[in-house]
Amino acid sequence: MFTNYIEVDIDKIKNNIENIKKLSKQTNICAVVKANAYGLGAVVIAKYIEDQVSYFAVATSIEAKNLRLRGIKKPIIILGYVSLEEAKECADLDIEIPIYDLAYAKKINDSLDFPVKAHIALDTGHSRLGFREFELDKILKLKELDRLNIIGSFSHFSTADEEDKTFTNEQYEKFERLREKLNDEFEIEIFHIANSAASIYHKTNCDMDRIGIAMYGIYPSDYLRNREEVKLEQVFSLKSRISFVKEINKGDSVSYGRTFIAKDRMKIATIPIGYADGYFRSFSNIGEVLVKDKIAKVCGRVCMDQIMVDVSDIECEIGDEVIVYPDIYKEANKIGTIPYELMTSFDMRLTRVYIKDGKVVKVDNYLGELYED
Ligand SMILES: *Cc1c(COP(=O)(O)O)cnc(C)c1O
Repeated sequence: MFTNYIEVDIDKIKNNIENIKKLSKQTNICAVVKANAYGLGAVVIAKYIEDQVSYFAVATSIEAKNLRLRGIKKPIIILGYVSLEEAKECADLDIEIPIYDLAYAKKINDSLDFPVKAHIALDTGHSRLGFREFELDKILKLKELDRLNIIGSFSHFSTADEEDKTFTNEQYEKFERLREKLNDEFEIEIFHIANSAASIYHKTNCDMDRIGIAMYGIYPSDYLRNREEVKLEQVFSLKSRISFVKEINKGDSVSYGRTFIAKDRMKIATIPIGYADGYFRSFSNIGEVLVKDKIAKVCGRVCMDQIMVDVSDIECEIGDEVIVYPDIYKEANKIGTIPYELMTSFDMRLTRVYIKDGKVVKVDNYLGELYED
C-alpha cells in the first residue's frame, strides 16, 4: 500500500492523444514530455505512447539523454538551450537541437565532429527563443554551417489558449511567411508551431503538433476547458492517507505560527504530505482535499511533510485515502498559478503508480527498478 502517490492512467493518456488527433486532424504528434512529463514520469509514459506519436520534445539535454539512454527510439527534440558539450552528445545520441542565434550556431558547428539534426527556432511574438522575421539574412547564413543538418523549423504561440485569436493569427501569418522563404532555401521536412491550445482551438496546417498538457488531460486554460471542444480526461490523481485523527478544543491552535485557531471544538486529521512533496506552502489555510468524498480544508500552515485538515463533519480514521487536488484548476487558481505548475512540482518523493487496463503495470519511486514487475 502506497502512502503518497500519483496514480497515472496510461489508457487515458492514449485516449487523449487519439481524441486530439481526431479533432485537430493532425496525425503527427510530438509528445511534449519535458519536466518529467509534467511531473508524471517521462520514461514510462514515453514507452507506452511511443507507437502513437512521431516525436518527443523536452526542454533540456539531460531530459533528452534520459529518454534516449532508456530506450526511446523515436526522434527527440530539445526546445531549450543546449551547451556546446551537450550539442556534441546530441549529435552522438541522435537528439535534435534548436538553433536561434547565428553566432552561437557557428560555435556549435565548429565544435562538432559530425552533424547534429537541428530545427530553426523562429520568434513570431513569444519573445523567448528564435530568430525574428527581420533576421532572415542571418537564418540564410545557417546554410553555410555544414555540421548543422537543418531538418525542421518551429515557433511557439503565446496566447493560443485565449478566446481572442488576433495575436495567434498574427503569429501564424508570420510563421507562414517565413516558412515559404525557408522552404526555398533549406530542405526542411518538419514545420511545427501548434501547442495543445492551438491544436484544440486554432486551425494550423503544419507537419506536426507539439502536445503537452492536453495529453495529460488538463485543458491549457479555463477558457478552453469551458468550451469543451475536445473531451480530455485527467490522467492522474494525487493521493495520500490520513495519518492521525483527533479532536481539539475551541482556542487550540494548529501548525507553525498559530495562524489557525479553532473557533469551536473540532476534529482535525493530519495528512503526511507537505511542501517538500510539491504541495505548496501557499495552500496554508486555503487548500482543500477530499476525504471520503467530502471536502476538508487545510488548517494552519502547510509543513514540509505534513498538513492538518478539518474533518469535523467527516467519519474517518488513520489510513483512509485522501485525494489531494479534488479540483486541480480550482486549487491552482487559489494560489495564483496554473495546473502546469502544480503538476511539475510533484516531487520525486511521491511514488508514481501506473495503471493500464485497470491493473498496476509499473511503480516508480526512490527504489526504482526494485519494484518493477
Ligand atoms: C511546453 C511547450 C509546448 C507544450 O505546451 P502545452 O501547452 O503543454 O501543450 C510546446 N512547445 C513548446 C516550445 C513548449 O515550450
